[in-house]
Parts: sequence; structure tokens; C-alpha cells
Amino acid sequence: MSDYGITSREKDFSQWYLDIVQRAELGDHSPVRGCMVIRPNGYAIWEKMQAALDGMIKATGHRNAYFPLFIPESFLKKEAEHVEGFAPECAVVTHGGGRLLEEPLMIRPTSETIIYHMYAKWIQSYRDLPVLINQWANVVRWEMRTRLFLRTTEFLWQEGHTAHATPEEGEEETRRMLDVYRRFAEEYMALPVLMGKKTAAEKFAGALRTYSIEAMMQDGKALQAGTSHNLGQNFSRPFEVRFQDESQQWQYCWQTSWGVSTRLIGALIMAHSDDQGLVLPPRLAPIEVVVVPIWSSDEQQQAVRAYLEEVRGQLDGRVSYHIDDRDQFKPGWKFAEWELKGIPLRLEVGPRDVAKRGAVLVRRDTREKQMLSLEDVGTAVREALDHMQRDLFDRALAFRREHTYMADVYDDFQTTISEKPGFTWAHWCGGADCETRVAQETKATIRTVPFEPEDGLETQDAPPPEQGRCIVCGQPSLRRVLWGKAY
Ligand SMILES: [Zn+2]
Repeated sequence: MSDYGITSREKDFSQWYLDIVQRAELGDHSPVRGCMVIRPNGYAIWEKMQAALDGMIKATGHRNAYFPLFIPESFLKKEAEHVEGFAPECAVVTHGGGRLLEEPLMIRPTSETIIYHMYAKWIQSYRDLPVLINQWANVVRWEMRTRLFLRTTEFLWQEGHTAHATPEEGEEETRRMLDVYRRFAEEYMALPVLMGKKTAAEKFAGALRTYSIEAMMQDGKALQAGTSHNLGQNFSRPFEVRFQDESQQWQYCWQTSWGVSTRLIGALIMAHSDDQGLVLPPRLAPIEVVVVPIWSSDEQQQAVRAYLEEVRGQLDGRVSYHIDDRDQFKPGWKFAEWELKGIPLRLEVGPRDVAKRGAVLVRRDTREKQMLSLEDVGTAVREALDHMQRDLFDRALAFRREHTYMADVYDDFQTTISEKPGFTWAHWCGGADCETRVAQETKATIRTVPFEPEDGLETQDAPPPEQGRCIVCGQPSLRRVLWGKAY
């Protein structure tokens, strides 16, 4: 346990994570098992994420709408694979207004069915296409093993749902949104991710194919940070989402859905934070700078407070900041408190700074100190934020590369998976049996199957295609796939 009341990562990674969530006041357990309360510090991060991602979703032509929480049970049953995948984790409402309902209502685990029921009404002609809608909502999946932000019974997310006239457009949309997620993860979360395809065993229930972005956490485990599904006509057929083409022929639409959730907050914590608490990439930090004034007499207080007005003049309009001038806490206590809460920069202003007309800037991630003169404060703070954003990304990428391995035979693979936390590239024949056996024997799953050059998207750092043999059965393989233990 550190002075900050946080278990060290080395001692117990999972407890370290929960300590940060609790001590940084991001979230808390609800009296309902598996549900989560998102506290203001956590919700402010979600709002920053929402604002950035919402802008990117709209910039690619989508509009927001809202669909209901309740879904008639019969809707979920219309797509066989979908119901099989989701029914076991559905919460079902059987009574309303004190009466037994004629048809039970499912609380949405995801909204394909209710949304496509509406699309069937709205879409008539090729002129109505494409339909590009996103919704920000909560969903419920009855999870048995839950962990704050990472896996909770109710969570917040966005789900995009689109309908197109051709399979090519559907595929293009699926990839476009995957790439939007990659950019969001890299540019805002400072989180390097690997884009790629999911195997049949790992795809979304009801999808033709699923693509995902995968990130590595500091314990070497993978976290699926976003998914984009090409649904083909799997939903448009049962829900009769049809349109008349230019020659008046009825055709079924080609559809996609894609989503990211509040689990991204869990990813942020596990990718960047340290034993002193939360570390936030500046672009998602609700407060970028905390100013801590220092004084030990009334006279000093007066001088420092007057000087703070000049410091404000440097910060206003340039960064979001908070001045912690509470008198009941000592500066050292405040430093620790704001480090715990992940404010990217600290600006210390004491009597000596007043005399020198300067200030001391401290970075949360490196603890690097910089002496500034007053007239440079605004620019220096802005620069430090940019540097920190970039450094966090570079550090996470270097960490992933240092913890990524190759294995050619199953023995080596098993040793690597059990002794070296991280990702392993290994050959696989494409067979479900081999995939299952590895999962049972090592707990590692296929995180991603790399894109091919002709896919137009690149799986970063993927080894080039090469002849090889499946590590399990020895059948020929043309590609290594990425294995790892996952959250
Ligand atoms: Zn095999």
C-alpha cells in the first residue's frame, strides 16, 4: 500500500485498479449487485469522451436518435444466433402497473431488433438510403462476474446502426467506423490499438463479421476497446428492412452496427495510471491544470493571492484549470490529492515565485519540474499538455511492443502465455477446434486476425503473411494471428 492508499500494481493489479476507481472517486458499487454508480469525477471523463467521439461520429455523416429501453421478447427471437447469444444475459420485465404483461419485455442488451423494426417502417425506397443513426444509451446484460467500468450489469455506450443499398457500402461503413474508433483511441485516449478481424467464435451474435480494436493493459492483458459489425442481411431479412431499387425490385438492406462503452474508462485507467493514482491523457482530462498556492503567513497569503490574478490572466481561455486555495489543507496534501485524481499538470505558486515573478510546473506522469517565468506560463502549460499527451501514447506503444512475442510450437506458446504477460503472434489453421483447445488449456483467445493488404485497413505491427503451421494441429497456415488473455 502506498502513502496514497493504493495497492501497488506489482502486488495486486486487480486490487490496484479497484483502489484507483474508489480513491479517485470515479465510481462506486451500487446496492444492486453488478451495477455501478458513476461518480462526478468518472462521469466528467465520460462526458469528455462523448463530446470528442460524438463529433467524430457526426463528422462521418451520422445523426443521433433515441430508441426505447424495452424490447418485446418476440423481437429478440427473430434472429436465431442473436437470441442464443443474448437471451441468457437478458433482464426481463414480466409485470407492469401491477399486472402480468401479455408479452414479457426485455431490457435492451443492445438495440438492433427494436431499431430495425423501426427502420422497416421508415425505409421504402433506395432514395431513403443510407440510414446513418447513432444513439447514446444505457444497456443491461446480466453479468455474473462484474468489475467497475470493465464489466457491469448496466453500462453506458453509443451504438451506431446503419442501413445501406449494397454489400460494398455496408462493408465500407463497418471499416470506416472501426477506423474512427482507432483514431479516437489513439488521439484522445493516447491508447495504441490493433485493428483486426474477430474469429467466428469471438464475433457478435448475429453478425456476418466483427472487427475490433484491441489494446494492451499494463498487466499485459488485452482489452477489446470497440467493435464494428457487418450484419449483412442477417437482421434485414427477419425484420423486413427492405427497399425498392431503381428498377422497382424489393431488396433487403445491408446493415452495420458498432459501439464503444464506459469500459473505455477502465481501459484509460489500466493503460496509463500508476501507484500514485490516476493518470489521464490531457485531451480527456476534465481539469487540465490545478494551481496550488503556497503560503505560511497572512502577509504571504495576501501577496500570493494578488499574484494569482496575474497567473489567471495567463491561463484564461487557454486551458481548463482549478485553483485549490483551501486553507485547511497543507500544500503537500493537496499535491498528493490531485495526483491521485489524475490532473495532468500542477502549477505551484509560492512567495518565492511571487518574488521572481514565476511559477513551478509539475507533470503528473513524469513528475518533471519546470521553472517558468510569468509571461511564459500560458504557452508552457499548453506545450506541456501536448507533450504529455504524446508521451503517454509513445510509452503505451513501447510497452505493447516490449510485451509482444512470437511462438512457433505449442510448447513455447504455452510457456510464453503463462510466463510472459502480453500478446503472442502464432500460426493458426482457422479451425474452431484448435482455437477452443488453446482457450481451455491456456486461457488465451485470438484477439485479432490481421487485415490483408487488400482490406484497405492495416493491423499495426502485424508480422507479414508467411507460410507456417498451426501451433495446435500442424495444418498449414498463411498468417499469424494475435493471441492473449483478455478482460
Ligand atoms: Zn489447427
